Amino acid sequence: MSDPIFQLITEEEQRQIEKIGLIPSENHLPPQVASVLSSCLSSKYAEGYAGRRYYEGNQLIDQIELMAIGRLKELFQVPYVNVQPHSGSPANTAVQFALLNPGDTIMGLSLGSGGHLTHGHPKVTFSGKYFNSVQYHVNEEGRIDYDVLRALTIEYKPKLIIAGTTSYPFILDFAKFRDIADEVGAWLLADISHITALVIGGEHPSPVPYADVIMSTTHKTFRGPRGAFILATEQGLAKDPKLGAQIDKAIIPGLQGGPHNASIAGIAIAAQLAARPSFKIYAQQIKKNSLALAQSLIDNGLKLVGNGTENHLMVVDLTPYSVGLGTQVAFALDIAGIYANRNAIPNEPSSPFYPSGLRLGTPLVTTRGMKEAEMVKIGEWIAKVVEHVKGETLPTERLERRVFINAFKENVANDSYLQAIRQEVKAIASQFPLFQKDA
Ligand SMILES: *Cc1c(COP(=O)(O)O)cnc(C)c1O
Repeated sequence: MSDPIFQLITEEEQRQIEKIGLIPSENHLPPQVASVLSSCLSSKYAEGYAGRRYYEGNQLIDQIELMAIGRLKELFQVPYVNVQPHSGSPANTAVQFALLNPGDTIMGLSLGSGGHLTHGHPKVTFSGKYFNSVQYHVNEEGRIDYDVLRALTIEYKPKLIIAGTTSYPFILDFAKFRDIADEVGAWLLADISHITALVIGGEHPSPVPYADVIMSTTHKTFRGPRGAFILATEQGLAKDPKLGAQIDKAIIPGLQGGPHNASIAGIAIAAQLAARPSFKIYAQQIKKNSLALAQSLIDNGLKLVGNGTENHLMVVDLTPYSVGLGTQVAFALDIAGIYANRNAIPNEPSSPFYPSGLRLGTPLVTTRGMKEAEMVKIGEWIAKVVEHVKGETLPTERLERRVFINAFKENVANDSYLQAIRQEVKAIASQFPLFQKDA
């Protein structure tokens, strides 16, 4: 136990216990899932699929993978499942690899509007480099304008439309996406990475009746291990009966080698937990907490993109104080014991690296068992921290920014006002285990 890595893990656990996490893409693992991640399953190579592996000795691994697939088929009522993607980005890569040829046109929501890099972000990602990417954006209110999306679709005739978000506080209208995709016969991929639990719990409309392919990470609201699954629906398979085989081939040999068997076992366990009535209550509480946190922030004078939330997350618009304040607020919050992330707002007037917003979500605190009363308190703390650093305006001169931020970081590290809030946060947070049984 002398390896300092173990000491760092202990300290990281303490950090998670003492602080309040509001990063909407994170969650705490159920102990049953955590336990299989360090099991002997990690030692085994299982390239290929059940019954057709390239290595011997996979009879039991086959059973585990088939159980994960079976449980997800049952949970989502879909005919095809693949649980081998190593994470969300490779899963999106595989879907695009399966459905498209290089140069085909794809349409996804831009990163600045709350989309994901793998949805066709130009220049820096595979999806922007290998495909002809046409991005759509949110309007002034921060919402997807489905009329604009329809017009773009008719103009550019994409072969694939992606409906999915990482930073979008509103409900996605999958029926409208389907209708728009049908204008040009495009495939519709629903990337529900962020909202999986809300979909399962009935707190967000399901894409199953509308999308051809559905993708989700398994480590966000789904509350499983790091990984992802890909589903194909009845209508997707009706369009192309080879769809499932194409996705399988895109994962291996197209993109990956051996599957992460321990994660796949964890996905199977998480799927069974998600089928329980208590998971519905967890999904409802995520949303109740989100609404309570949004209301508390508004009551304490903060402005939210879209003036609220319809799901598990919200984006604070800090431009009423100054443009580019997100970084300072996120750093100061961390010192005060609350960790979140800076985020672009619609039509970001600053830059993606020094944006003007703060993204907050409630999956982590809900899993710990926190409820509306704690959300009210968290909203007050956040407002106090914003008030404390609101005068720390980002320099307009690009070259001065890093120097300014570094100096700011040093200053806030020992700020006594923030330290005092941190003690209050610690006193409350430490009362909640990372994973509350039945939360
Ligand atoms: C998180 C996320 C991904 C990527 O998942 P990774 O596991 O980080 O690769 C893809 N799409 C959406 C919408 C996401 O939120």
